[in-house]
Amino acid sequence: MVQRLVYRRRLSYNTKSNRRRIVRTPGGRLVYQYLKKPKRIPRCGQCKDKLRGIIPARPMERARICRRKQTVKRAYGGVLCHKCVKERIVRAFLIEEQKIVQKVLKSQQPSSKPKKAAT
Ligand SMILES: [Zn+2]
Repeated sequence: MVQRLVYRRRLSYNTKSNRRRIVRTPGGRLVYQYLKKPKRIPRCGQCKDKLRGIIPARPMERARICRRKQTVKRAYGGVLCHKCVKERIVRAFLIEEQKIVQKVLKSQQPSSKPKKAAT
């Protein structure tokens, strides 16, 4: 017959936070060993891709570890991936360029009209 095991904590439901594994003690007994929830790597806020250069950790653990392991040294490091940051920078640049082009075109049109009126 299989040895029956009892929980070592008060939580008595088979929930996500009550995951355990069976280990044999040095005395030959079988007991439950409680497992922690899996560590996760943060994901990009836009494309949901895993972020590189960040170590996996639980939320409380992440607050305790040093800053170098939580983020990468870039604008939006630790929040967005490099591809999404590049895309945003390029997009913002093109929008600004377009604004300048429109401004130049607008300034050229009235200057050409008075010339026509003068001639
Ligand atoms: Zn991304």
